[in-house]
This record gives sequence, C-alpha cells and structure tokens, in this order.
Amino acid sequence: MTAKLINGKEIAQQIREEIRAEVARLQREKSLTPGLATIIVGEDPASQSYVRGKQKAASELGFYSIQENLSANISEKELLALVDKYNKDEKIHGILVQLPLPKHINEDNVIYAMSPDKDVDAFHPVNVGKLVMGKPLFQPCTPAAIQQLLLRSGVKIEGAEVVVVGRSNIVGKPIANILLQKAAGANATVTICHTKTIDLSRHTKRAEILIVAAGKSKAITADMVKPGAVVIDVGINEVGKTAEGKRILVGDVDFERVMEVAGAITPVPGGVGPMTITMLMLNTLRAAQQIFKA
Ligand code: NAD
Repeated sequence: MTAKLINGKEIAQQIREEIRAEVARLQREKSLTPGLATIIVGEDPASQSYVRGKQKAASELGFYSIQENLSANISEKELLALVDKYNKDEKIHGILVQLPLPKHINEDNVIYAMSPDKDVDAFHPVNVGKLVMGKPLFQPCTPAAIQQLLLRSGVKIEGAEVVVVGRSNIVGKPIANILLQKAAGANATVTICHTKTIDLSRHTKRAEILIVAAGKSKAITADMVKPGAVVIDVGINEVGKTAEGKRILVGDVDFERVMEVAGAITPVPGGVGPMTITMLMLNTLRAAQQIFKA
C-alpha cells in the first residue's frame, strides 16, 4: 500500500480563499477590516521568520496589520504596557506575542495580560478553559490545523480510535481535547501518550488516526502503525543543511517506511506547517466577527 498524501499547502490555500471572501464581505457590509498586531522581542532568526510569515499572510488576506519589533532588552513592564495598548486599540482584533520570550520576561504574565477576546493563539487560561468545556472562542492554531486537515481530507473522526503522541500545552493536550468533544468534527475516542507511556507501540498500533507531536525524528516507525491508518505528523526536526545552507527538515514519523503501511499521511514540510499560520488568520477573522457577531 502507498499512503495518500494529505497536502497542507492546498488545503491552506482553500481556507485562505474563504477568509479572503469573508474579509471582503465584512469590509463591504460592516466597514470592518480585521486587524492583527504581532509583537516580537529580540532577534531569534526562527521567530523572525515565523513572524514575517504571519505578517505576509495578514497583508495578502487584506487585514490591517501592525508589527512591533522590540529589543531583547525591553522590560516585562514595557511589554505588558504594549499588550495593554493593543487590548484597547479598536482597530486591532488579534494580538500575537511570538514565543519564546527572553528569560527575564515571564511568559505567563504576558499571556495573562492579553484580552482573551484578542488572544488569537488561544493560550490564555480563559481560552484553554473554554476549549476544555467544548465552548471555544478560538482553537489554538496547530490543533485547529490538524482537525481541518482531517475534515477536509474526508477522514471520519466520529467514533475513530485516535492516539496522540505528545502532551504539550500547544499541541498534544489541545488536539486531544478538540477531538473528544461532543461536537461535529469530533466525537473520537482519544488516548494521549507521552515519554512515560509504557509500550508506546501497543497504543499507536490501535490508532485509526495517529497524531504525532513528539519533537523527535523517527519516533514513529512503520511497525508502530496500523495498516490503513491516517497519520498526522506535526514534528519539525532539523537533521542537517543542504550544500546551499538551507535547513533540512523532517517530521517525527519515518515517512518513507510509514508511507507503505498508512492509508494517508501528512508530509513534512508541506503538511501541518502551512496550515498553522492560516488558522491564526482564521482566528483573527473570528475575533473581528465578534464585534458585530457578524
Ligand atoms: P514538546 O517538546 O513541548 O512536547 C513533546 C511531547 O512529546 C512531550 O509531551 C513528550 O512527553 C512527548 N514525547 C517526546 N518523545 C516521546 C516519545 N519517544 N514517546 C512518547 N512521547 C514522547 O513539543 P511540542 O511543542 O508539542 O512540539 C512537538 C513537535 O511539533 C516539535 O517538533 C515542534 O517543532 C513541532 N511543532 C510543529 C508545529 C507546526 O506548525 N507544524 C507547531 C508546533 C509544534
């Protein structure tokens, strides 16, 4: 068997078309333009590149956007004041503070300072709580991306045996919470595995949908996958550089071998990655729609 490829770029493009149409409608009917403020502290090249991608997507979709590039020396107090400024700015509906922050700034304080209505990463405890209760205002971007990849590839989630490898607050726990809800596009039976799980493959081999967010290349090999399973590989691992100095990235799944066993699989790059920024844009649009419940 050769698994079907789940193309994240194509699905992200479809969703972006839908967002663009909705932005045009909001502008036409409500004179409202969704606004996103991105805040980055310091010069970390990976963070700079993520934020550039977010700003580019925002401007391509017709959003109003502002980017704040702050020195790594900025104090926590100054950063909190800036978050507060955007909490009060009526033209801004979504605020994104790129993580990680320098060590002298307490990330939790920054997340807690954000208005939950503008917290488009959905990291604020109010938004985490709403997600667990099955009443989310926003879904965190990577888990939302995973659910959309499954739904738009025609994968049946209801009643499926889902196994998630990884229990982080940004991927593992929220995707498990999303898929177990009594809701459309969910209703799965979910198991979460982690580093203390005994006999990981006993669980992964049961999975009809296997979601891997471990942060280790080849954490999942072909013998750990049920034939015909849908495999979503969230991992991004750098395994070297090309002759031109470009990073070589792989996921957490032994892609070539697992391709021969699985029914469908996301590639890395080109699977979950391109979807994540798109879900941030969708959350910003939803935040703007809240203004009029439009
Ligand atoms: P994390 O390091 O916070 O969490 C990893 C989790 O995996 C931990 O809970 C750990 O218990 C578990 N784990 C690690 N090795 C394991 C093993 N061998 N067996 C069972 N469990 C194991 O990582 P994270 O933030 O959740 O990210 C996971 C991966 O996904 C990383 O490679 C990250 O770069 C990538 N990621 C990608 C996107 C995207 O947009 N594509 C977004 C976020 C994270």
